[in-house]
Amino acid sequence: MTPPLNFIYLSPPHMGGKEQHHVQQAFDSNWITTAGANVDGFERELSAYLSVPAAAALSSGTAALHLALLALGVGPGDEVFCSTFTFVASTNPICYVGATPVFIDSEPTTWNLCPSALAQALENRLKNGKLPKALVLVHLYGMPAQLQEIQEITQHYGVPLIEDAAEALGSRYRDQLLGTFGKAGIFSFNGNKIITTSGGGALVSPDSQLVEQARWLAMQAKEPLPYYHHTTLGYNYRLSNISAGIGRGQLEVLEERVQQRRQIFDHYRYLLQEIEELEWQAEPEGFFSNRWLSCFTLKKSCNLTPEELRLQLLAAHIESRPLWQPMHLQPLYQGHDYFGERTSDELFTRGLCLPSGSSLTQADQERVAAVIKKAFSA
Ligand SMILES: *Cc1c(COP(=O)(O)O)cnc(C)c1O
Repeated sequence: MTPPLNFIYLSPPHMGGKEQHHVQQAFDSNWITTAGANVDGFERELSAYLSVPAAAALSSGTAALHLALLALGVGPGDEVFCSTFTFVASTNPICYVGATPVFIDSEPTTWNLCPSALAQALENRLKNGKLPKALVLVHLYGMPAQLQEIQEITQHYGVPLIEDAAEALGSRYRDQLLGTFGKAGIFSFNGNKIITTSGGGALVSPDSQLVEQARWLAMQAKEPLPYYHHTTLGYNYRLSNISAGIGRGQLEVLEERVQQRRQIFDHYRYLLQEIEELEWQAEPEGFFSNRWLSCFTLKKSCNLTPEELRLQLLAAHIESRPLWQPMHLQPLYQGHDYFGERTSDELFTRGLCLPSGSSLTQADQERVAAVIKKAFSA
């Protein structure tokens, strides 16, 4: 079934205009596959934007995280700590490498990993004699986690940090771009993210050898010999030169997209200011979110549920979504260890994401706000 013409999507792709030019160059030179000027250019331009020595352009954010874990030597018998409040792609790669995820709760301000739950979990593992091999830290909806507190803790225990910045390209913590704080950072260019390559991801690191190794693993770990010689298990995870062409065009408009998403968030807050039941995801001093999605939770006292709101929006041809269901509540991860106080459970049951695509018009936002206002006045 095709959706009606006036349907407002949650976060559709938004082309900048130069993408087709780069794709055309790939066609003109007949570099259509997983190597070429766009792949090199995209890696160069992304690392320049982030001020990191190197980036590997990959087929997805999930693949990037998988390779980050491998590059840090995570394997069977290891534990990896991870934000529980996230998309399943943050944690599945931990299982791909045969390790076990342990889930850490959120704190209520940024909705991201709670430093005290992390400290408690690490203390517990120290007592049991084995620390996790890494921490996968997620910056949800573009909002930076409490990086200073978290880094003090991980450095104290000597646990490497991997940032899942899939939703947070262009976000900053104390003026430093997210994805550049840990041993490795990963990004996604899936169709719903702030910029897209139609599907793709990237891995960055302050250690260019780590990036080099990930790039090699992404190309079947082929040894540099004229014949096919393999010593290591590799993967087919490289980004295509076509997709990278889209990515180059998108990178040119990234800063504009960040400003547009932030304006959309501010405009929702303005339009819905009289509804006191809405609590918007906070942005503390020194935090700068790309506001990938505009999200709120409903106060406990509220007599509407997010699901009722979602259905009323859908009836008006508007897509909205619940917040992520935490990993410790997934049947897939039943029985896994969890540290926290159920903050993310609350966020999941009381939250909603509104349409936030950078191409959304003010008139679209007024349509969304009108449905919400009507629901509250009924
Ligand atoms: C989208 C996303 C991913 C995965 O990225 P893909 O490119 O879809 O594989 C990982 N983590 C988070 C938090 C995401 O939102």
